Amino acid sequence: MNSKHEMRLLEIAKRLTTFEEVALGYNEEEAYLESLRCLNCKTKPCVSACPVAIDIPRFIMKIKEKDITSAHHIITEANLLPGVCGRVCPQESQCESTCVRAIKGEAVAIGRLERYVADNYQGEAHPQVAKKDYQVAIIGSGPAGLACAGVLIEKGYTVTIYEAMHENGGVLVYGIPEFRLPKRIVKAEIETLKQMGVKFENNVVVGKTVLLEDLKQENDAIFIGTGAGLPKFMNIPGENYNGVLSANEFLTRMNLMKAYQEKYDTPLKKMTNVAVVGGGNVAMDAARSARRMGAHVYLIYRRGFQEMPARLEEIHHAQEEGIIFKNLTNPVAITANNEGRVTNIICQEMVLGEPDASGRRRPMAKEGSEVVFDVDTVIMAIGNYPNPLLRTSTSLVEYDKYNCLVVDENNKTTCDGIYGGGDVVTGAATVILAMGAGKKAAYAIDLYLQNGKER
Ligand SMILES: Cc1cc2nc3c(=O)[nH]c(=O)nc-3n(C[C@H](O)[C@H](O)[C@H](O)COP(=O)(O)OP(=O)(O)OC[C@H]3O[C@@H](n4cnc5c(N)ncnc54)[C@H](O)[C@@H]3O)c2cc1C
Repeated sequence: MNSKHEMRLLEIAKRLTTFEEVALGYNEEEAYLESLRCLNCKTKPCVSACPVAIDIPRFIMKIKEKDITSAHHIITEANLLPGVCGRVCPQESQCESTCVRAIKGEAVAIGRLERYVADNYQGEAHPQVAKKDYQVAIIGSGPAGLACAGVLIEKGYTVTIYEAMHENGGVLVYGIPEFRLPKRIVKAEIETLKQMGVKFENNVVVGKTVLLEDLKQENDAIFIGTGAGLPKFMNIPGENYNGVLSANEFLTRMNLMKAYQEKYDTPLKKMTNVAVVGGGNVAMDAARSARRMGAHVYLIYRRGFQEMPARLEEIHHAQEEGIIFKNLTNPVAITANNEGRVTNIICQEMVLGEPDASGRRRPMAKEGSEVVFDVDTVIMAIGNYPNPLLRTSTSLVEYDKYNCLVVDENNKTTCDGIYGGGDVVTGAATVILAMGAGKKAAYAIDLYLQNGKER
């Protein structure tokens, strides 16, 4: 009773040759046994720790009763993407971190149970009829835009999502790899929104193919959920050589261009020895993807394991799959051959000093240390900024010096009728925080339109 029921995993040998999902989920018996661990506390601390406030004990009680339909309805009252969130939310630092069971053992496996319900629900979405005479444009089909759309369509608005890419889902489809979040799960959850009446306009880059000003004329309100898709680089010598990629570019090629499948013309050059720089989920995803393409992969991170922002589960899976962790190591230059192709990454060893503003111990270079790795590819996964494309095309809304959209406590921008949320406001964060922001903005949009737009 003190530990979570283990989730079955794809065997390691198979992981290295396919992009199949690694975590296999609970079966009925496992989910039932895990549900028995929930104490159904009166105070429900897990609910307050969930950014979208799913009534967690209530849905788990339904699993106990083997009533998946009711469990699904309870979750989707708060979260329209349970299959996604059950897989990628950092539950260990949110709902599960406050679970009373965790005082004397492990928290209830809330994420695994959420995923179990999503994967085993058989029902269909109910189509919504637009009852209100207002239309709302949403820019971006990532979790923020989808969550905003879900609330507004249920309230009877006409909702259209404008998306720059040919596929919907934002980072859920072009960032997070198939072995962690199968695209069919994202597609199915987006299909539910389509069935409910949300319209999607793809290949529309707002700020380029259509202006924000035009959307403002044609709609009663707008939500901006354009994410944080502009990669950061280190600004070290050699970052322009052939073979240096951002994790964004690498993962997008993998996910949307199927660079790993033989039947597709691979747009990625064969890689043998790869250095991935970074310690977050993006770095783990890039490293594990490169490994599946047959490469030896070094994960170069300037702090220690304890400071790594990636989910513990992802770090464990990466270790199992043979990623070579080079912690307390920081790149200072990349070298290349006469043709400009990467040959080495030169690093310094680091030591940890006092905690910095992030609360983590500050990495400092060890005098005179140098470590060199022979690599043909370097993938930078050190973070992202919001893309400035929309910003440079409009003066309707304000952005700060980091290209983050400026909003108030109700997610309203500096322009009446235009709201925003997700990574474009906070900088790169998490799926559930983006969804929470999208929902909050949707309630504010509803209030604004119900008050005759006079806020
Ligand atoms: C590789 C990777 C792994 C991650 N792993 C996790 C994880 O395990 N758990 C977790 O919680 N979070 C994870 N994250 C973070 C999480 O995915 C993001 O915080 C979340 O997707 C942000 O949602 P969003 O809707 O704000 O933006 P996005 O998901 O970035 O969606 C924005 C959408 O807007 C579109 N867009 C941008 N500009 C325009 C425009 N001008 N016109 C029209 N459309 C536009 C984009 O094409 C995109 O589809 C990961 C991120 C990455 C990159």
